[in-house]
Amino acid sequence: MPDTLMAHIGEDRAKYDGAVVPPVFQNSLFTFKDWDDIDAAFDDRTNRPIYTRLVNPTTRIAEQKIAALAGASGLDLEARLTASGMAAVSAAVFHAVSAGDHVVAVKNVYGPTNNFLNSYLRRKIGLETTFVSGSALQDFEQAITPKTKLIVLESPSSAVFSLQNISEVAKLARSKGILTMIDNTWATPLYQKPLDMGIDLEIHSASKYLGGHSDVVGGVIIGSRERMHSITVQEGELFGGTIAPWTSWLITRSLRTLSMRLERHQTNALQVAVFLEKHPKIRQVRYPGLKSHPQYDLGCQQMSGFTGLMGFELDTDDLTRIKRFFNSLEYFQIGVSWGGHESLIYAPAISYLKELPPDRFKDLGISMGDMRISVGLEDANDLIQDLSDSLNKM
Ligand SMILES: *Cc1c(COP(=O)(O)O)cnc(C)c1O
Repeated sequence: MPDTLMAHIGEDRAKYDGAVVPPVFQNSLFTFKDWDDIDAAFDDRTNRPIYTRLVNPTTRIAEQKIAALAGASGLDLEARLTASGMAAVSAAVFHAVSAGDHVVAVKNVYGPTNNFLNSYLRRKIGLETTFVSGSALQDFEQAITPKTKLIVLESPSSAVFSLQNISEVAKLARSKGILTMIDNTWATPLYQKPLDMGIDLEIHSASKYLGGHSDVVGGVIIGSRERMHSITVQEGELFGGTIAPWTSWLITRSLRTLSMRLERHQTNALQVAVFLEKHPKIRQVRYPGLKSHPQYDLGCQQMSGFTGLMGFELDTDDLTRIKRFFNSLEYFQIGVSWGGHESLIYAPAISYLKELPPDRFKDLGISMGDMRISVGLEDANDLIQDLSDSLNKM
C-alpha cells in the first residue's frame, strides 16, 4: 500500500546508523578505493554515485519512492528528480523530438510548456506543434501527420480542468509509433497512473503536491528503466537540470504524508466546490470532482481521487466588484502556484490584461471574473466562511 511504501521503500537505514530520517548527502562528488573501483562505477554510472549531477543517494531515496507510487501493476519504472517541473518538461520533450519533427499537444497545457513548444522550439529547431482541444480522440487522429513524434497531454489540465481519455490516446499513439507524455501534476502519481494506461513518460512539478509545503521547486520524470537511462545520460547529464540534495530530502519528507494530505485536500475541495456551485454570485465552477463536470465519469474511470485546485467564475465583469471580492479574502492568500498546505487564490485576468484589451476576452473564452483557487489543509468550514463573507462584500 502507498502509505507503507512511502514510509519504507528506498531507505536502507542500516547504512546510516539506523537513522530514522535519512541523511542529506550534501556533496558534489564521491570517492573510490582504487582504479578498479572507480572504473566499475563508470560502467554503472546511472546507479552508482560518482558526481551529484547524475546520481545522489539522498535524491535516489525520493526517486525510488516516486517510481513505486507511479507503477500500479509491476511495471519496471524509474523516476528521476529534476531542478523544476519545467526542467522535467524540457528534458522529456527533447528526449522525444529532433529538428523538423511535429508534436500534437493539448491547447490548455501549462503556459510555459505551451510557450516552449509553440514559440521557443519552433524558433530554435523548427519544431511544429498542433494544439488540440483533446476532449475527443478525433482531435488527435486529425492532427497526427507522418512527422508526428510526440503527443503531449495534461489531464486534468491545471488551467481549465478538462480531461483527455488517457488509455485511448495512448493506444492510438502506440499504433502509430508516436511517443506520449503527460503532465500528471494535478492528479499526482497517487491518484492517476498514466504509465499503467500506456503512456511513455509522466512528468510532474514536484513544487506542487509532491513537495506539498510550498518550500521546494522541483520536478520529476517517470518512465521505463530503458527510457530513463537514455534521459539520464543525455538530457540529464547534458542540460544538467539536477535537483539539489536538500530539495530531494524535503520531497522525501513530504512523500510520507502525501496520501493523508491529498485526502484532506480532496474532502476540503469538494466541500468548497459544492458551496461555490450553489452560490447565486457564481456563474460556474470548474472542478473534475463535481458531478456537474462534463467529464466527471471519465475522471472517475481514470483517477482514484481528486485534488484541491479548481476554477470558478464570478457572476460579474465589473472589475471594481471583482477586486473587492479578491481583496477581502482572509484565509485564501493571493499568489501563483498551488498544491501547498495553504489556500491560495489567483485571477487569470491579472496576466491576460497585460497582453489583451478586456473587449477581446469574450472571443477567447476568458472571463474577467475567472478565479483559480488552491484549496489547502485549513478547516473547510473556515474556508467556506471566508469565501462566503467575501462574496457578500462583492
Ligand atoms: C507548476 C507547474 C509546472 C512547472 O513546474 P515548476 O516546478 O514550476 O517548473 C508544470 N506543469 C504544471 C501543471 C504546473 O502546475
